[in-house]
Amino acid sequence: MATIFTKIINGDIPSYKIAENDQYYAFLDINPAAKGHTLVVPKLEVDYIFDLPPDVLGGLLQFAQPIARALDAAFRPVRTGIIVEGLEVPHAHVHLIPMYPDRKGFSLGKKESFTAEEMQAIAAAIRQKL
Ligand code: AMP
Repeated sequence: MATIFTKIINGDIPSYKIAENDQYYAFLDINPAAKGHTLVVPKLEVDYIFDLPPDVLGGLLQFAQPIARALDAAFRPVRTGIIVEGLEVPHAHVHLIPMYPDRKGFSLGKKESFTAEEMQAIAAAIRQKL
C-alpha cells in the first residue's frame, strides 16, 4: 500500500507544497516543531533512509539545500536544523526545522499550531525565496 507521503506526492492527499522535481518532493510538516518545518522526501518509496540507493540519498541532501537556504532567507532563524527520525511514516524523509532565537534548540515532540491560512502564507514565503 502506498505510504501517506506517496499519496501526497501523487496529489491524492493535499499538502503545503514547497518544491518538487522528478525525484524529490518537499512540503510543510502538518504538525510543525517550528514555523517553516519542512519535510523533504524522495519519490522512491523506501522506508529506511540508509536503504536508499546512494545517488538518491546524496540527491536528497542536494535537493534540501536550497530549501534550507530559503527557510533562512524567509524567516531569519539562527540556522536551519536537519533531523532524520522516520519512526512515524515508513517513507524516507528529512526534517528541515528553522531554529529561532527564543528557543535553545528544537524537539520533534514540541509542536506549534498554525491555521490553514498561516500555513499557506508560510509555504508561499519559502517558495518566494527559492
Ligand atoms: P517521522 O516519521 O517520525 O520522521 O515523522 C513523520 C512526520 O510526518 C511527522 O512530523 C508528522 O507531523 C508528519 N506528517 C504526517 N502526516 C503528514 C501529512 N499528511 N502532511 C504533512 N506532514 C505529515
